Amino acid sequence: MLEYDIVIVGAGPSGSAAALKAASSGKKVLVLERGPEPGSKNVSGAMIRKDYVTSVFGEGVPFERNVDKIKLSLYDKDKPVSIEFSPDNLVTTGRLKFDKWLSSVSENAGAMVIPKTTALKLNWENNVAKSITTDRGEVFAKSFVLAEGVNSLVSMESKIKSDLTPENAVETVKVVYSVKKEDINSMFNTKNESSGVAWRYIMTDPLVAGFLYTYKDSVSIGIGSPINQLVERKIRPEKLLDDFMDKTGLSDMVKGYSLREYSAKVIPEGGFPDINVSKSNVYLCGDALGLVDPLTFDGISPAIASGTIAGSAAVYNLDSATYRYELMKNPEISKIAKERKLESEFMSGDRAKEYIEMVSSMLNNWASGNMFGMRNTMVSNYRNVIPDLMGFVLKMR
Ligand SMILES: Cc1cc2nc3c(=O)[nH]c(=O)nc-3n(C[C@H](O)[C@H](O)[C@H](O)COP(=O)(O)OP(=O)(O)OC[C@H]3O[C@@H](n4cnc5c(N)ncnc54)[C@H](O)[C@@H]3O)c2cc1C
Repeated sequence: MLEYDIVIVGAGPSGSAAALKAASSGKKVLVLERGPEPGSKNVSGAMIRKDYVTSVFGEGVPFERNVDKIKLSLYDKDKPVSIEFSPDNLVTTGRLKFDKWLSSVSENAGAMVIPKTTALKLNWENNVAKSITTDRGEVFAKSFVLAEGVNSLVSMESKIKSDLTPENAVETVKVVYSVKKEDINSMFNTKNESSGVAWRYIMTDPLVAGFLYTYKDSVSIGIGSPINQLVERKIRPEKLLDDFMDKTGLSDMVKGYSLREYSAKVIPEGGFPDINVSKSNVYLCGDALGLVDPLTFDGISPAIASGTIAGSAAVYNLDSATYRYELMKNPEISKIAKERKLESEFMSGDRAKEYIEMVSSMLNNWASGNMFGMRNTMVSNYRNVIPDLMGFVLKMR
């Protein structure tokens, strides 16, 4: 009989953080990963805060390029207004290398990681999970961490959480183009192969949050849009990506380069704190708890934060209320929980459109020296948009 102290489902950032924490506490830990290796189901890259990852996993984070500049473009109708700034500490990373590295750190701490193994269901006795059935047999444990990402089949099968609906999910589509290192440097005016950029976009009708990241020898471009807006407008996600790339000029930029990857994935729009976080000795973390920001795509830091707390909860067998309290205390997690109300209001109806029109009009007026225009925009928005905005800001406290 295979028996461990703690079994973790998923070797993504949240699962590896949970494994690191539990194994470092001296527990016998098993991580089940359905992919051929950690990260293989999350092949392309992401933008991460390197200092935060280092604070949990130590030095040696594999990264592609520093993000020296972020450009945010807000599209009011067809024309963007853009703001550019230099962030601190952001880098891009390839998920295959990144997830493999996180997993290797947990293995060095003593966790056992078994790939090519899919967890199917938990087996319960008197409301306590006793074992987990996988496609390669059954494993017994004292506690379980479900770090299975957005498609949380084991959590759903155990009725800890319900399925995603079009009202609470964002569809994303992402492409990666192979681009020579020197071409990236000339396209983005970057100094050398460790210097890079991130471009972010917001468009309305339907609401689209888009991004472009530079890696060493590739560029990744993606969009996310609330599924209910796509359904209402009968827009297919791949068509939305094509339109986005045409409108932003990115189609022309990547013309002639080869498409390396095309993927689609759902991001949960809802989640913690409005869902169950655990059931008896089973703890959810990361995307399985909906801990990802659907507008900025920031999900890896909260996944690592919640994984660490889930690992600790599994070691000390915390009850649900204490686990929830520990999650809420963490700034990476409370930030997402507090922003959720603001974002779901921003993403619904015409709010995003109103705000973007207001900001774009003010910035255009400012740039063209038209102070009266700026004043007029403020006056015309004084009665509706600004009080609304203030109301949202107050709700975030
Ligand atoms: C298009 C897009 C762009 C993004 N960009 C960024 C970004 O730039 N920065 C950022 O911080 N975040 C980004 N995110 C969000 C980020 O990818 C997630 O929030 C993060 O990966 C969540 O980590 P996780 O460990 O909870 O889940 P995952 O990374 O999804 O890991 C879950 C793991 O569990 C495994 N698994 C699932 N079910 C089973 C099972 N039954 N048995 C065994 N194994 C199983 C999967 O194979 C996977 O390896 C992006 C997301 C998308 C969709």
